[in-house]
Amino acid sequence: MTQQIELSGVNKYYGAYHALKNIDLSIRKGAFVALVGPSGCGKSTLLRSLAGLEGISSGDLVIAGERMNDVPPRKRDLAMVFQSYALYPHMTVEQNLTYSLKIKGVKKAEAKKAAQEVAAITGLSDLLHRYPRELSGGQRQRVAMSRAIIRHPKAFLFDEPLSNLDAALRVHMRKEIRALHDRLGATSVYVTHDQVEAMTMADHVVVMRSGIIEQQGKPLDLYDRPANRFVAGFIGSPAMNFIPARSSTDGKSLLLDLAGPRSVALQHPMVPDRDVLVGLRPEHLALAAPDAPGFDIPVAAIESTGAMTYVTTATSPEIVVVLNGRSQLNSDRMIRLTFDQQNIHVFDASTEQRIDLTV
Ligand code: ADP
Repeated sequence: MTQQIELSGVNKYYGAYHALKNIDLSIRKGAFVALVGPSGCGKSTLLRSLAGLEGISSGDLVIAGERMNDVPPRKRDLAMVFQSYALYPHMTVEQNLTYSLKIKGVKKAEAKKAAQEVAAITGLSDLLHRYPRELSGGQRQRVAMSRAIIRHPKAFLFDEPLSNLDAALRVHMRKEIRALHDRLGATSVYVTHDQVEAMTMADHVVVMRSGIIEQQGKPLDLYDRPANRFVAGFIGSPAMNFIPARSSTDGKSLLLDLAGPRSVALQHPMVPDRDVLVGLRPEHLALAAPDAPGFDIPVAAIESTGAMTYVTTATSPEIVVVLNGRSQLNSDRMIRLTFDQQNIHVFDASTEQRIDLTV
């Protein structure tokens, strides 16, 4: 059995509120899975349901081949990793690490040895006698991790563990957690509202909205082939641009509504006479030479970070273009834009589902 965690048809109600809607999710042993979505989409509820901190209303939850629906949290053999402030402030690092073993009745010497072993893995060997207040944010996060590792759980469940760290430390800790996961050969489920965190840490990303799974898959597959407008707009930063358009009666061209009608001949025909949204990622637009084909568009703002230049158009909807390096844009406030058809995404205007062009 390679599936470590399997949810099928899982529903969760809080009173009349339907928080998880028919969730199917398979997590293989050794995977790093991120649950991502905007606040309130149900990702914590899903994680807490795995842990047993919430009961599910219907469906099945199987962990390592065993049905767990009604098994209490401490018998599920899963370890939750919270933000680092969940440490016990009045206990040393060693006491924080051995606390769960002490409760289980593990002998003192054995627990001490286990703490030393885990501390060696997480780089805390010299800090075992310190109190949490005597540690940096990153070190505290490592204690939180170590406290989970010492229990040898079937899976690690992370609930936004990095959200109270500053930006630089967060980026560092992402790498550290992922490296630790790999070294331990662990199975991890990681909740975050930050799509960059999900994309950079996970092998498998689950995008949620309003209690449903909108799409799941490998990070770059979601980026390259978002199943609907929501996923397309949620994954990627700056976000994908969406331009209303209509396909022609022969399906061979699109009429974009971008500061006036603009026609694009399609290399691959699509459904005729359909209102659609054309999705273009900011890095897939480019500046065209003044005499080359393209759309002349007024510019609202040009911002440079040094490495990149961000151009925002004065159109409705506005379009954001990312250019590599510094731009030589002059001040006449008009640009000529072009894009590569290989990289356009098309969504049905009413269902917002992806429409594939190559048929
Ligand atoms: P997320 O982690 O994605 O921000 P949650 O899983 O915490 O979202 O919450 C999903 C939805 O369920 C939210 O609308 C939230 O208000 C609701 N909810 C969460 N916990 C409870 C609860 N104990 N009772 C009632 N509603 C809840």
